[in-house]
Amino acid sequence: MIDQARLQQLIREEIPSLIQIRRKLHQNPGLSYQESYASALVKEDLGKSSIPFRDGLAKGPESEVGTGVVADLPGDAAQAIGLRADMDALPIVEETGCEYASKVPGVMHACGHDGHTTILIGTARVLARINREDGLPQPVRLIFQPAEEGGAGGARMIEDGCLEATDSSPRVRQMFALHGWPDAPLGTIRTCEGPITAATACLEVTVKGRGGHAAFPQFNQDPIVATAAIVSAAQSIVARNIDPIASGVISITQCRAGDGGYNVIPSEATLRGTIRALETSVMETLKRRFEEVVSQIAAAHDCCGEVTYQIEGLAEYPVTINSPEAVRVLKGALPEAQTDLQPVMGGEDFAFYGQKVPSAMFVLGLRPGEAPIPGLHHPQFNFNDDAIATGVEAFCRVALHAPSDPEP
Ligand SMILES: [Zn+2]
Ligand SMILES: [Zn+2]
Repeated sequence: MIDQARLQQLIREEIPSLIQIRRKLHQNPGLSYQESYASALVKEDLGKSSIPFRDGLAKGPESEVGTGVVADLPGDAAQAIGLRADMDALPIVEETGCEYASKVPGVMHACGHDGHTTILIGTARVLARINREDGLPQPVRLIFQPAEEGGAGGARMIEDGCLEATDSSPRVRQMFALHGWPDAPLGTIRTCEGPITAATACLEVTVKGRGGHAAFPQFNQDPIVATAAIVSAAQSIVARNIDPIASGVISITQCRAGDGGYNVIPSEATLRGTIRALETSVMETLKRRFEEVVSQIAAAHDCCGEVTYQIEGLAEYPVTINSPEAVRVLKGALPEAQTDLQPVMGGEDFAFYGQKVPSAMFVLGLRPGEAPIPGLHHPQFNFNDDAIATGVEAFCRVALHAPSDPEP
């Protein structure tokens, strides 16, 4: 089995070229299901390492071909472990000012998925080399997925069989993923057992009334007053309907009504926002109570209120739960990893993998000093290239950690 010093040497040899890859990806971002640049670059690199792959997976609702890629490395065990990277970018105007800033107007890698893709490419290269020299203790499946940012690309990858056995490779028995973390010091790895990211749903409320002259409210049914009451009442749901020890949040982020004159009561008002929780049962309670509050408060104001969670192709995500057995593997492979990470109310479509096989996600520190750096989804966020080596080494050590659990 390869020793640590040799592994680190192999990784060091790849770093200059991986930094070039990361910057190319950063410069050529693709929104969810439009990651054709990243997908082509991944395939080109896998080809150079002679790693067989399947492509065209996880086709989006409006795309002609899927951008998802799945590659397999052989190994000694009967089942594979899976490593996942997401490839998509966000609809944000970049403000990093870096020389390799996005060339795509209004689109940028503000969540660091350029870094994740690069780290999995680097892992593929290093593991392919170790496989040629020494062999691998278990088969490794490398999963490059589209559309993490709301499009549930992970769910489509699973539908397209990314965890299943193929003619030449066994099924995946455990899944691992990482996410760059601006709050954590460079070089550190942190995780936790149980929930790590929240169940998320976007919400849209439509309140319908009857518009008319603002001077004669007695002839109208005012949706603005009803909507204002809904916004206030929604905040009592978390406070009064769930266990204070549990976690949940309802945030209203958009409020639209009235495009007539200042003296016209509109006939309709809409709200948008998000509901999140760290437990499925809490999520169900929040949604049920929110729907009741909307319809009954609207009715109390002589209006009609409805809730939908289907907005612009954005999917609901389940809670991402790190399974005890997958966290045990992480701790065995990466003893230096801290396991005190607090869960966050952000969403992650890695949750879908965790619903199929024991899975664990960990975070990779990006912050070079004590001073805070721009956070995820911020127009000045930029993945830290100095974290690539730590990420590749972490993935490689997880892959090289011989399976100790009895295989089902
Ligand atoms: Zn994100
Ligand atoms: Zn992300």
